[in-house]
Amino acid sequence: MKETAYLKCINPYCGLEYDIKNTNITCEKNHFLDVQYDNIPSIELKELFYRRRNYRDNIFNESGVWRFRELLNFCQINTSDIKSCSKYLVSLDGIEGKQSKPYRMSKVADFIGLRHNKLLLQLEGYNPSGSFKDNGMSSAITHAKLVGATKIICASTGNTSASAGMYTANENMECYVYIPNEQIASGKLSQAYQFGTKVIKVSGNFDDAFLKSLDDAKKINAYTVNSVNPFRIEGQKTIIYRLLEYLNWDVPDWIVYPGGALGNASSCGKCLMELYKWQWIKKIPRLVIVNAEGAKTLYDLYNGEFDNTKLRWNDGKPNLELLDRYYKYLNENQIKPNTTATAIQINKPANILKCIRALEFTDGIVTKVSDSEMLDGMAIVGLNGFDCELASGAVPAGIKKLVDAEIIKNDDLVSGILTGRQKDPSLFVEYHSNRKNRFAVTPIDYTSLE
Ligand SMILES: *Cc1c(COP(=O)(O)O)cnc(C)c1O
Ligand SMILES: [Zn+2]
Repeated sequence: MKETAYLKCINPYCGLEYDIKNTNITCEKNHFLDVQYDNIPSIELKELFYRRRNYRDNIFNESGVWRFRELLNFCQINTSDIKSCSKYLVSLDGIEGKQSKPYRMSKVADFIGLRHNKLLLQLEGYNPSGSFKDNGMSSAITHAKLVGATKIICASTGNTSASAGMYTANENMECYVYIPNEQIASGKLSQAYQFGTKVIKVSGNFDDAFLKSLDDAKKINAYTVNSVNPFRIEGQKTIIYRLLEYLNWDVPDWIVYPGGALGNASSCGKCLMELYKWQWIKKIPRLVIVNAEGAKTLYDLYNGEFDNTKLRWNDGKPNLELLDRYYKYLNENQIKPNTTATAIQINKPANILKCIRALEFTDGIVTKVSDSEMLDGMAIVGLNGFDCELASGAVPAGIKKLVDAEIIKNDDLVSGILTGRQKDPSLFVEYHSNRKNRFAVTPIDYTSLE
């Protein structure tokens, strides 16, 4: 008998299916997997999700992730039975996703050149470990628990390890984190230690650390929680549920993310594909991914900047040879990802195929910004009284670029995801100490007041 939730290969010409307790990242032909649900959720759930915000002692209603548990019920439990929820669902006492909703930021809107009511910025940094990763980590660790895993493993530019460390500490699991030497914000590294993870320092960049962690995962039989894990993608769908709920399940014209390993982009695409199929939404927002200029694989391939061929999902027949050729070109020319925004300093984005599927479904756009543009983006969010890190600064910077180019129109409703909180406080001191920076509020020496 077929279960109602299972794993399915994303390649429509392959379509192999697996039991939900499978822990492979790909099908046997090496294609990525999606979590699939046969049941079409009742549209009346919208009311239930809203009521749960008044949670009354139920941490799974309080949680901004598990409040939507009917839409990611891969454990196939009775979602109204709190005992089943407690037994299966992993939550940090209901706190993940709880404060993250869209906010208005007038100064950021002015900087971008949009009317104040046309810009919504969602603060995913206001999650317990300080980034959007907590949305997907609660669901990935839930799956790890479902399959009886006790060892968790990941490679990380910082926020993944912070989040994995936090949940595994709370669940009493072992956690191994592979960290690229010297390319991680001190505040993020400190969290890996704080939560008692086993920190493994790898010389090289994130891409190197990631490959090593995948190899070792097999050796020590550990469960991988990088965003190649399809259950991470499920939890991250709730970022979009909260945005749409805020808009009474209307959709914005644009949804904008910074692009690193492209898990978020993939998750957004899958979320919209499902909602559209269930007819919960009638219109599809357009997805924008913002790469750093120093780590722009997606930008190059999607826009045909590399030998004039555009990488497209192409209904499930992407040009994989082009992708191979690009990676070969990076290797042969020793091109390393290079940006101060370490969270998106990734040249081999593991989720690129799921991401181009999302871009195809949403008629998406990929743009790129410089480190100095990201710094201004981050600074203006700060001057608006909110906190975000440099990679998140790519969002206002990228939106501004598209507004200037009149690709995003004045009347469009734009929502951007500010992915993480500032964990490298020296960045603000440096930025504001240098009066050449656009938004610098320079410190005053006491003597100069005399
Ligand atoms: C992980 C991370 C990103 C990149 O997200 P992907 O899903 O890997 O593209 C961007 N910003 C912050 C703050 C992150 O922690
Ligand atoms: Zn397959």
